[in-house]
Amino acid sequence: MGSILLGASELRALTRSPEKPMVLILLGPPGAGKGTHATPLSLSLDLPHISTGDLFRAQIQSNSSLGQKAKFYIDQGSLVPDDLVLDMLFDRLKAQDCAQGCILDGFPRTLAQAKALDLRLENKSQILALNFHVPDSILIDRIAGRLVCRDCKKSYHKLFDPPATADLCGECGGRLYTRDDDQASIVSKRLEVYREETMPLIDYYAAQNDVLKEVDGQGAKEQVFQDVLNALPSFAKAISSQ
Ligand SMILES: [Zn+2]
Repeated sequence: MGSILLGASELRALTRSPEKPMVLILLGPPGAGKGTHATPLSLSLDLPHISTGDLFRAQIQSNSSLGQKAKFYIDQGSLVPDDLVLDMLFDRLKAQDCAQGCILDGFPRTLAQAKALDLRLENKSQILALNFHVPDSILIDRIAGRLVCRDCKKSYHKLFDPPATADLCGECGGRLYTRDDDQASIVSKRLEVYREETMPLIDYYAAQNDVLKEVDGQGAKEQVFQDVLNALPSFAKAISSQ
């Protein structure tokens, strides 16, 4: 089957429903490329990209009452409770730029969070979950190959973006190192934790009609992005015929 190429305005038309804004959820293990595609997707669909991590930081920085509550947990080294994350998220969703929907990154991560999100959305939004699928061996190569400069923090990759001189930053001459949580053994552990936490969530979305879309995240960036775009129109047709 050939791929369907769509212009930006056609895409926007296809992903708009007059009744229901779209909540696009990006799912996938660390290294699967969610971060890479979030911004181009946000531009193509004209939907804001909302990262819950950024939301926390903004609320804390503005010292809002939600921010103060979040800071209390973060300072203790605890996870921010789901209800508080949802309070922050729905505070953000009130903004005009979310009227047609949004792209969610980093939330929900667990089944409990997905159910809580559904309750709050009250069936007023259409959820579409994109699951970026990449075999573990490739994820480990991608993550464990990352190198970061100790001084200027510029990142490299042993295979895909190697420095000109081994172990030295091309920008500032600083030493390059592998972050602790990018070590191969730890990456395997992170993937295991991800799977344990997120598989029930993927099953939950898979059991609903036209919610979960699998995306093959193995190929080149442009190919993967095209696959993502191709996953969207059939979804839009499904909601417009409801
Ligand atoms: Zn550097």
